[in-house]
Amino acid sequence: MSAHRTTDDVDVVIAGAGAAGLAAAVALSGAGAKVALLERKPFFGGRAYSYAHPALDEVIDSQHVLLGCCTNLIDLCNLSGASRHIRWYDSITFLEPGTEASSSETKPSRRSDICPGLLPSPGHSALSFLRAPMLSLADKSRIALGLLDFLRAYPTIDDEPFSAWLQRTHQTDRAIRHFWEPIIVGTLNDTFDRCSTRYAGQVFHESFMKSAEGGRLGIPSQPLSEFYSSVARLAEHQGTSLHLRCSIDRIEQLPGSVWKVTASDGTIHRAPNLLLALPFEQTARLLTTLPDASEHRQRIVPSLAHFTHAPITTIHLWFDRTITDLDHAALLDTRIQWMFNKTLIRRFETSQAATPGQYLELVISASFPELQQPREEILAAALAELARFFPGVRAAKLLKAGVLKEARATFSVTPGLDCFRPAADAPGDGLYLAGDWTLSGWPSTMEGAVRSGRLAAESIARAAGNAAEFLTPALPAAGLMKFFAR
Ligand SMILES: Cc1cc2nc3c(=O)[nH]c(=O)nc-3n(C[C@H](O)[C@H](O)[C@H](O)COP(=O)(O)OP(=O)(O)OC[C@H]3O[C@@H](n4cnc5c(N)ncnc54)[C@H](O)[C@@H]3O)c2cc1C
Repeated sequence: MSAHRTTDDVDVVIAGAGAAGLAAAVALSGAGAKVALLERKPFFGGRAYSYAHPALDEVIDSQHVLLGCCTNLIDLCNLSGASRHIRWYDSITFLEPGTEASSSETKPSRRSDICPGLLPSPGHSALSFLRAPMLSLADKSRIALGLLDFLRAYPTIDDEPFSAWLQRTHQTDRAIRHFWEPIIVGTLNDTFDRCSTRYAGQVFHESFMKSAEGGRLGIPSQPLSEFYSSVARLAEHQGTSLHLRCSIDRIEQLPGSVWKVTASDGTIHRAPNLLLALPFEQTARLLTTLPDASEHRQRIVPSLAHFTHAPITTIHLWFDRTITDLDHAALLDTRIQWMFNKTLIRRFETSQAATPGQYLELVISASFPELQQPREEILAAALAELARFFPGVRAAKLLKAGVLKEARATFSVTPGLDCFRPAADAPGDGLYLAGDWTLSGWPSTMEGAVRSGRLAAESIARAAGNAAEFLTPALPAAGLMKFFAR
């Protein structure tokens, strides 16, 4: 786009082509609105991005997963065709390390598979849970009693830290380390005292209890920006104009209810509706380009001070040989919580002949300590930990390795945050907000982002006199949960 060009024939300008902005663009352009989508990066997907790493000569991303209960994200993927690139798994494998950290002895790791069986929900995973060697009978009975709290629903108020709930329900040390921690730290990406019981309860109610389908694990098998390109192409096909490398510097409200957006390349975009589908810190930055006395600014900016980030670190390892035949696993009693076998996950994507060796990605959620640690230290610790699960690592040659630290990976659902999460139409006068951090009803996830984009699209359509509904309903309760779930 040439400098100083002006776009002013659109109904809605959307800032940000992450999952939220893309979902809003698809909903609005699908309903006949003229939409311009502006994104500062050269690719789509926002934080769910991939890129060609020049030194590694590989396309890398931080593996994202979804669950069967992410109905809005799944619907968006179905509409755009991206769903062809999701691999679904019914079973989650938990591995206990085979050897002590200090020992050079090689013992196989112990495996527990949690998967649905013949019993109706909420007991669909009960048989595999009862068989799982990673927990004793005492741990299991505490967990089962705890889960009863989330049988009918999860709390509507978000004031209690999950750490207090664990204490209140007398969870054992091993139940915490081998069950609550891998799931909650993996899904909410923060420590127990910085996660509210409301969102922890939502994870267990929606994905563990309500139906077996809700707990299925979906893993995008394409690099993430390619995955989200399908969604961008759908929006474009419906008439959305896409502008990559277009960083918005300033917003202004003009007389006559028009919003003006100025990008760093000098381009100007004007529309009666402006949707900021940005992370909270970028939203705050743009709102502070409005005059101090602006009501839109005053309504939103003070709330944003209550939001905090949590980091995720991923470690990418290319070995000269096969390390494991598992596609993914939760690794217990370590810093690295999840292993994704990218070679196996991507095996149907590449047209090239399979190369020998294996590419594994390790994920450390809530990686606050790793933010300060040098790359070499993180790598050495991760390799030592990995060898405790897969002794073949010791003999394998590491061909190349990368460490990716995402300091602002997610916002934390800290207790009491909900009252500061704004609704899509909170700023007013044709200015709207979306993004995982807004009042989506979900924690910091792609589903939360897609929901927020669709909620914002509904508000914009409603203001134009169109009572469109873009949200996909939650999965229905299955089995006995039809009688329990509220
Ligand atoms: C390492 C990592 C692992 C994760 N794992 C998972 C997972 O397994 N499952 C899951 O559901 N979620 C996961 N998440 C969270 C998930 O990525 C986010 O919740 C979701 O992508 C947020 O989408 P969004 O559209 O709200 O925001 P974003 O993705 O942040 O999109 C905002 C967009 O706005 C653009 N932008 C910012 N400022 C400007 C500007 N001034 N002008 C123009 N454009 C601008 C940004 O470049 C970005 O593209 C993970 C996140 C990370 C980082």
